[in-house]
Parts: sequence; C-alpha cells; structure tokens
Amino acid sequence: ETPQADAIVLFGATGDLASRMLLPSLYFLDADGFLPDGFRVIATARAELSRDAFVEQVLHLMQKRAEGLDDKVWARFAARLDYVAADATTPEGASVLKPLLEAAKAPIFYLALSPSLYGRVCVALAAAGLTSRDSRIVLEKPIGRDLETSKEINVAVGAVFGEDRIFRIDHYLGKETVQNLIALRFANTLFEPLWNNLTIDHVQITVAETEGVGDRWPYYDEYGALRDMLQNHMLQLLCLVAMEPPSDMEPDSVRNEKVKVLRSLRPFTRAEVQAASIRGQYTPGVVGGKTAAGYEQERGQASGTETFVALRADIDNWRWAGVPFFLRTGKRLPERRTQIAIQFKGVPHSIFGGSAKDDLTANRLVIDLQPDEDIELLLMNKAPGITQGGMRLQSLPLSLSLLRAYEGPGARRRIAYERLLLDVIHGNSTLFVRRDEVEEAWRWVDGVAAAWKDAGLTPKPYAAGSWGPSGAFALIERSARAWLD
Ligand code: NAP
Repeated sequence: ETPQADAIVLFGATGDLASRMLLPSLYFLDADGFLPDGFRVIATARAELSRDAFVEQVLHLMQKRAEGLDDKVWARFAARLDYVAADATTPEGASVLKPLLEAAKAPIFYLALSPSLYGRVCVALAAAGLTSRDSRIVLEKPIGRDLETSKEINVAVGAVFGEDRIFRIDHYLGKETVQNLIALRFANTLFEPLWNNLTIDHVQITVAETEGVGDRWPYYDEYGALRDMLQNHMLQLLCLVAMEPPSDMEPDSVRNEKVKVLRSLRPFTRAEVQAASIRGQYTPGVVGGKTAAGYEQERGQASGTETFVALRADIDNWRWAGVPFFLRTGKRLPERRTQIAIQFKGVPHSIFGGSAKDDLTANRLVIDLQPDEDIELLLMNKAPGITQGGMRLQSLPLSLSLLRAYEGPGARRRIAYERLLLDVIHGNSTLFVRRDEVEEAWRWVDGVAAAWKDAGLTPKPYAAGSWGPSGAFALIERSARAWLD
C-alpha cells in the first residue's frame, strides 16, 4: 500500500510544462478539495527567485487563464507554495531542499526537466538523503530516444526508486475520453462481442497538429514524429483499443494486457516498410489562412527529420489478425484533431434495393480527444418521410458528447494532469506507463527506424496546411481503404 503523499517537489517549476499544466492542475485540485491538508508544493529550478516573486508569477499565470481565480482558493493554495533555487543534478543542489522536506514522509518528486537529467537528479536525491520507501518519482516523456537510452534512464532511476514508486506520465491517459474508452469497452456488453476481426474492418488513429516545430527544433530535430508522438501517445491509444479485457483495474492487470499488445506488433521488414509507412516534412504553405514557414527554414538548415509519419501496424494475434491499424501524425496539418476511429465491416448482404443501396455505409465508432472530447457511433437509419420507390437510408451519429457534461455552473474541462497528479498522490499507477511497456514500445519503434534506414526512406515534402505527402494516401488506398475526413 502506498500512503498518501504529503508534498510535491516540482523540478523545472519555471518551465513551460509547469506553468501551463502542472501548477494550474495543482491549483484546481486544491479548489476541488483534493489536496490533503498540509500538502506542500515545493517549486524549484536554478533561477534565483524569492518565494514571493515565484508566488507572484504563479498568481499571474492563474489570472491569465480563462477559468478565473477564486480568492479564497488562491489564498489556500499560495500558502502551500515554496520556492528554492537549486541545481537538481548535484547533491549540494538537492540538499538545499532538505529543510523544506523535513516534515514530509511521502514526497513526490516531479521531474519537469529534460530527460537527460533524470539519472543525475535521482543520484543527487539519494546522495542528499531525500528518498525513502514512501517517496515517489514522476517522469515526463520522452523516456530516451531509443531502447538503449530508455534502458539507461530506467536503470538509473530504478537504482533509487522501486518500480511501484516510479510514475511515467503519458498525459493522454489522463484524458477523460481515453478513460471513457475503457468504460465504453468494459462497462457495456454491446461492444466486446464485436470487438474483433469478425466485425471490425480497420482502425485509424490520427494525431494532427496545426502548429509547426518553431523554436523547439533543437529537441525535435533529434526525435521526429515517430519518436515524439507515435512511440508514446499513439501506441498507448492503440493498446487501449486492442488489449484483452483485464480482470480488474489494478495497475498490473491493465499494464500486463497493454504489454501483450506491444509484443504482438508485427516488426517491419525492409521490404514492407516502403509499402506500409511514409515519412514527411513540411515545406512552406498556408495553415488556417496564415502563411507558414517550412521546417528547414525554422531549423535554419537541411534536415532529415520527419514531421509527419503514417504507417500501417498489424497486431499478430487471434483477435486482430487481418485488421490493420492505420496511424498518422504530423505538424502543420490543416486542422487540430486527435481521433480514434473504429471502422466496422459493412452488412453481409443488403436487402435494400434502388437508391437506398447506395446510401448504405458501414458503422463506425469515432472517439474524438481533441479539440473536443466526444464519442459518436454512426448508425444507419431510415431517412424520415416518404420517398418514391421505397425508403432512403441515412447514417446518423449516436453521440455521447462530453462537451455537454462540462456545461452548467462550476463545470469546466479538466486538465489531463489533474487526474494523473491525484493518482500519484494516492499511489495508483494504473494510468502510468510501466518500464516494460516503454521498452517494448521502443523495441518496435527502433525496428521501424532501422527499416527506414535500411530502405533509405527519407521524408517526402508536403506543403504546410496539407494532409501530408501523397504517399500517405497511397499507403491506405493500397488496402482499399481511405483516411476519414
Ligand atoms: P522548459 O520550459 O525548458 O523548462 C525546463 C525547466 O527546468 C526550467 O524551469 C529550468 O529552469 C529547469 N532546469 C533546467 N536545468 C535544471 C537543473 N540542472 N536543475 C534544476 N532545474 C533545471 O521545459 P518544459 O517544456 O517545461 O519540459 C519539461 C519536461 O517535460 C521535458 O522532459 C519535456 O520533454 C516534458 N514535456 C513537456 C511538454 C510541454 O508541453 N512543455 C509536454 C510533454 C512533455 P532553470 O533554467 O532556471 O533551471
């Protein structure tokens, strides 16, 4: 049993992630009464800042948010805050935290830092005597750049924290709709009997961004779309769609099932990789009515990094044999969209003649994660009214609009990190990524990267504001299917 945490040490507290996501999430958890009494928030980075100056910064960033600030909640939250300047990678730096952690029996160490520092920070924490059986650590993505480097990080962190005390964040798992996918599959009898290759034709997972890489290129250029997006978020979504029913929601029950899916992913051969994957890189174009620079202009020189990837993944097991999973993600695409679509097969025989025959479209379950959270089941039904020559059919969505659930006084859309931080406080790791999951995902992704290298597959140009290179369409059309609009 993991006891409830009594403090969080936020490393990288002045950074982008802490400012946009983590500090606001902690504030909202406090607003809703989820932070334990006496829970401390100890912020740290190297910048020399007084506590007051830091608290002032947090106040400003909360005031700028659309949700508005409640004075009483703010007073309570501000009283929890501390700031200390320290270089987290040295034992001297870590020991600066010691006086602040004196009363904390079960602190959370949240590393909102570059993953290249994770190992050294863990060593420093241990050397400064800050870790105990009940402390826990939260790691951000990316855990490494390939299997080898991810193992190095896992070994270094594992030398200080037990696996049950390591929380690897994939913030997609904190999203309401992603958890709803688990509810939909396992809290209904309707879907599970159909959830296999007898009824499902294929699955599409799209993560489309309108933004470019911009000044984040020093990080991005080393990773690219495959490592930045597909290895973690997209494979996690694939696992939740494809996994066998776990026997309960215990962390290892769910994660065991996800690992089995990752192990069943068919490795790419050099010959297949050309037909079943495509890399792209954006060139100048227009996105949302605005002209956008190409990746190489942002980067300032030629680059072999992909900003778009589409591929066909096959899962070699009984349930999914013959059901391709088409994955695509890219930057500078025409719209922002994160979506999972389960495309069912058509009816085996149509009893409808005439024009109704052409109306028939196969059922589809569409799960939208961004920009709106929504689940729709497309069903065929009769078009209302009378028509000459028999009935007409139409496809209509049965909608579980989650947007509506956020309407009404006091309701708001939660940040995915709120759920996850609350789980860390209570020591529940079901929605966190276990070491073997990270490593299996890298093993498969390393295989993709190696096959690309073998086959000399370089990124094909696509204009910013388009849906990627034409090869992305050819890829899916090869199996007589099409990307959904
Ligand atoms: P960032 O904006 O560059 O912030 C880095 C933070 O780390 C700053 O507060 C910096 O402050 C501090 N820092 C750097 N070196 C340090 C050291 N030696 N000791 C103590 N503090 C140090 O980075 P970020 O975008 O917030 O990202 C943080 C982590 O989250 C990364 O692992 C990233 O991959 C991951 N992540 C970020 C996002 C996002 O939306 N931003 C999304 C997913 C994952 P000082 O320079 O003052 O020390």
